[in-house]
This record gives sequence, C-alpha cells and structure tokens, in this order.
Amino acid sequence: MDISVVIPLYNEEESLPELHSWICRVIDGMGLDYEVIFVDDGSTDKSWAVVGQLARKDPLHVRGVSFRRNYGKSPALNTGFGIAQGRVVITMDADLQDSPDEIPELYRMITEEGYDLVSGYKKKRYDPLSKTIPTKLFNATARRVSGIRNLHDFNCGLKAYRSEVVKHIEIYGDMHRYIPYLAKLAGFHRIGEKVVQHHPRKYGHTKFGLDRFVNGYLDLLTLWFTGKFGKKPMHFFGLLGSLMFFLGFVAVIVVGVAKLYAMHHGSHYILVTDSPYFYISLVLMLLGSQLFLAGFIGELVVRNSQKRNEYEIASRIDIEKNTL
Ligand code: UDP
Ligand code: MG
Repeated sequence: MDISVVIPLYNEEESLPELHSWICRVIDGMGLDYEVIFVDDGSTDKSWAVVGQLARKDPLHVRGVSFRRNYGKSPALNTGFGIAQGRVVITMDADLQDSPDEIPELYRMITEEGYDLVSGYKKKRYDPLSKTIPTKLFNATARRVSGIRNLHDFNCGLKAYRSEVVKHIEIYGDMHRYIPYLAKLAGFHRIGEKVVQHHPRKYGHTKFGLDRFVNGYLDLLTLWFTGKFGKKPMHFFGLLGSLMFFLGFVAVIVVGVAKLYAMHHGSHYILVTDSPYFYISLVLMLLGSQLFLAGFIGELVVRNSQKRNEYEIASRIDIEKNTL
C-alpha cells in the first residue's frame, strides 16, 4: 500500500463526505494504492454513522475506528498510526482546514527527497488573532527547546511520515503538538517543511480553547526533561540538589564563622539564629537534599521500568546460522 491518510475527528459530521471525496479525487489522480482511516474520537454527533456510509460507498479505501468516549487528538492519531499500512502516512484534520491537494507534493518529498517527516506550514492562516499570535510564540519556544530550527509550525495537522516513523513514536496526552520533536527524540532527523494552503473552518467549531497554550508549554518542558534525563534522572536532580546543598552549607559556615570571628575580636555580634542568612541556608540545604532524594527515587523508577533498555535500532547485521 502506498498511502495511508489518517484523520482524527471529533464531531465533524458535515465535513466528512466532502473531505473523503476530495482525498479520493486527489490520490486516484496520482494512480496510487491508498486507504483513508477515520478515527472517531468519541463524537456525540452523527460522525460515526457518516463514516459508516462512506465505508459502504467506498469499501476499498475507507477504514474506521471509533472510541467509546472522547480521549483527545493524540490518542486518535496514535490509534490511526497503529493500524496504518501505507508506506507513507499522511495526517490531516477533519474540518477541511487542510487541503488534500497538498498530498502529491508531500508524498514526493518523503519518497524522493528522503525526508522522514514533512510538516505543513500554514504561512497564511485563517484563524482568529487570539490564536495566531500565541502560536508564533509557541513555535519560537518549541524551535529553541527541540533544536529543530527549520520548523515554523509544529502543530500543523497536515503532515507526512515515512511509515517507520509512525510505528516508532508514541503519541499520548496532548503530545500531538510536538510530533516532530518526538520523531527527533526517536532518532529521525530528516525533518522538512512545506508551505501549505489553509482554509477557514467551514462547519462546526474549534475543539481547543486557550488552555492549549498553557498545556502546550508544560508538555514541552516534559518532553525536554524526559528526552534529556528520562533514563538518568539523577543527572538532573543530583546536580541541582548538590549545588543547592553546597550553597547552603557554605552559607551556614560563613554565618557561623562570622559570629565566632566577631566574638573573638570582641566586636558586636548577633546570634546565628538571629541572622536571616542562617534560615536561607537551612532552606537551601533542605531543598538540596530533597532534590537529591527525588533523584534517587527517579533512578529506582527507571531501574524498575520495562523500557529501561529499549533503544531505537536503525539497522543491524547478523550472521545467518545455516550458512556456517
Ligand atoms: N479532534 C479530535 N479530538 C479532540 C479534539 C479535536 O480528534 O478531542 C480533531 C478535530 O475533529 C479536528 C482536529 O482534531 O479534525 C483538529 O481540531 P480543531 O480543528 O478543533 O483544531 P484547530 O484547527 O482549532 O487547531
Ligand atoms: Mg481546525
């Protein structure tokens, strides 16, 4: 199979027939073998019934999965990725904001230019200002933290992947915003971008509010932390804890010695417990040891994790037993 188109959808009944026929028109035109996978994320409208109708009309291409309840876009994508069979996997939103006309060029970039992942870039967006301005900030932060400097639009719903990529990354929670970063952390480095057409939403309404930016920011921190220290938490907590403890320890000694010195020389001195620095040092030492303990607990968790020795193996060479 050449192409799998994966479409997460939540209450998008009006858009689906139009989207389906548009996708089919484009890929039929390319003369390729394909499937369209609709992942219904627990819609409460008639979306799933519409997918059923499409499947009856076009049983050769339409597949569908329906969640019993709404889990979110990431779980929907992850499920679609799990069952996709195409050599190239393309994701797009169900709301007709992304254009299927981009599929041929995305497909070409993956198969001919050797990209692992190509992300769409909605250079001209048709979204309210309250969304476009924070999005710019969000992308700038994501670029810095992830080190993927050439991407302008991490969260674009329209993306293309080599099938190996989608089979090796796990998208959970709200991590769909950072799929390029997840791919990079899994060792897929050839990440490209293509400017794509964007359209205003035709039917229904957006499923995400402004909380997307708060959650997006927290998720970015999580990814940075797990990517860097996920397998060795002590390197993070231990360093921070030791530094704090050391600072506190030095400070407490300075406070004590200063008092002894003043006493010895008969000048005015105050009790150690009357000095604010004494309490600050205590707090530093306490926090430092807490952080250190958090590091130990992190190491215990890692040691007991099933995944502690799971790595991404790109290729291997073995000796065939029978030929010896
Ligand atoms: N979506 C989903 N589950 C959710 C929320 C959204 O599958 O819980 C789908 C939605 O149906 C659409 C895509 O994710 O196909 C993008 O959502 P939306 O258009 O609301 O996001 P926006 O374009 O406003 O970023
Ligand atoms: Mg949308």
